[in-house]
Amino acid sequence: MNLPIILIDNGHGRETAGKRSPSGKLREYAWTRAVARRITEELRGHDVSAFLLTPEDVDVPLATRVKRVEAYCRQYGKKNVILISVHVNAAGNGEHWLAAKGWSAYTTPGTTESDEVARCLYEAAVSAFPGRKIRIYANRKNPDFEASLYILRNTSCAAVLTENFFMDNLDDVAFLLSDDGKEAVVRCHVNGIIEYIRNAYE
Ligand SMILES: [Zn+2]
Repeated sequence: MNLPIILIDNGHGRETAGKRSPSGKLREYAWTRAVARRITEELRGHDVSAFLLTPEDVDVPLATRVKRVEAYCRQYGKKNVILISVHVNAAGNGEHWLAAKGWSAYTTPGTTESDEVARCLYEAAVSAFPGRKIRIYANRKNPDFEASLYILRNTSCAAVLTENFFMDNLDDVAFLLSDDGKEAVVRCHVNGIIEYIRNAYE
């Protein structure tokens, strides 16, 4: 088993309320599952030990997701596990098209190894999404946003949550539903993770 272990999580489940585009064409659970699966497969193609954390379609509770991550941390050491949780952002409740758009990533408050993983993902995002908005948190030395999100706060390994554009922005949704858009999101994650591994492990 090559280290680190990369765990790819996907947001929410089939029965989670909301979490869809106003058109109903983009469902966060389905979109993130398809993309998470492709990220995992492509990483494996590069000899990275990548696993899907939540292969189920149902909404696996956050506490269960955390338990799964922690089991990997106990087995391989928390420094050898990286969690990436793949989501789609929303500015409202999914009923109306709104103006907010763009790609971003979140880590817990404070500077940890997660910020270095996020920095690599941001670099990859700039290349993968030319001409599209990359949302940068302006008041820190790192570009990522900071929030005490449950899955980030309660896991002991490096962990980043990506918000891949907005499901209630018309232009972002058209991009996310296109083959080019899905390919670009997969490329962003794969290239960012591989760059981080190169910097930190080789
Ligand atoms: Zn989400």
